[in-house]
Amino acid sequence: MSHTFKYDILVIGSLNADLVVRAPHFPRPGETISGDDLQIIPGGKGANQAVAAARQGANVGMIGRVGKDGFGDVLLQNLKNNRVDISDVERDDASTGTAIIVVDEDGQNSIILSAGANGKVTREDVKKHSPGFQAMQAVLLQLEIPLETVVYAAQSSFGNDALVILNPAPARTLPDELFKVIDYLIPNETELSILSGIQVTDLASAEKAARSLQEHGNFSVLVTMGGNGALIVDKFDDEIKHIPAFKVEVVDTTAAGDAFIGGFASALLRGLEVEEAVKYANACGALAATKFGAQPSLPTKEEVEKFIKQG
Ligand code: ADP
Repeated sequence: MSHTFKYDILVIGSLNADLVVRAPHFPRPGETISGDDLQIIPGGKGANQAVAAARQGANVGMIGRVGKDGFGDVLLQNLKNNRVDISDVERDDASTGTAIIVVDEDGQNSIILSAGANGKVTREDVKKHSPGFQAMQAVLLQLEIPLETVVYAAQSSFGNDALVILNPAPARTLPDELFKVIDYLIPNETELSILSGIQVTDLASAEKAARSLQEHGNFSVLVTMGGNGALIVDKFDDEIKHIPAFKVEVVDTTAAGDAFIGGFASALLRGLEVEEAVKYANACGALAATKFGAQPSLPTKEEVEKFIKQG
């Protein structure tokens, strides 16, 4: 039986204005240093992943909240420009979520997050905007909105056969009820260390940490490892698969993980096998690392296909 979905992918998550300044180094306590001109860039893990998937050709909707302020206008317009359906994003009395980001000379970043309206996304929002949850093939979740809302969204999606993909960022310990209803967990190495309590330093420790989490549910773990690519720890396969990264000149790794996740989800829904989808996602992450900023750095399908062809 064929089923027409409203969306390929529904993202329930955060929208942030990233206020970015490049500086020679991170300021020490009490120190004032001069940086470059301020850049205001659309970000937030939820919105980044929505745009990442939409640029890969997926039909994407988003549930979230922004303030009734100028940053909110900018973020919504940007999603619209990227063909993400924003009809389910509410305007809140709280200020729009903001990330204050300093990027040093080596391209490392340090971030202060002000959740603002993202902290007001409730299960009622989820209920109101996605009745029955039969409207999408996959749901992308992160942890920049209240955990209770994430758990509710995951449970509702799982109960209606949507694929549930959780990016546990920023990392925190998670309840069993969430682990029980996800299909893919996609942490980076730091997040995996925090979630599992096992220090992840190499492939062996990454597998050990991922396997320990899999005792809580029936999900596969894809560990993103920056310049080392990604590791597939399939729940039903005793063997792990390491998929090496593409070699690129790194400018700024902001949103590399989001590019990976949006790329993976859209590739999987196009019918690629998991291993092929992870290779594709590695290409998305690598290309995002070659450009400055969050959403401006997310590659299109044409860019990724050309990049892969060039090897
Ligand atoms: P996050 O941004 O969440 O910390 P990672 O740094 O692990 O996530 O990056 C996500 C993915 O982006 C990696 O799995 C890899 O495919 C790609 N990537 C990130 N950094 C690089 C890099 N330096 N070179 C090539 N690919 C990279």
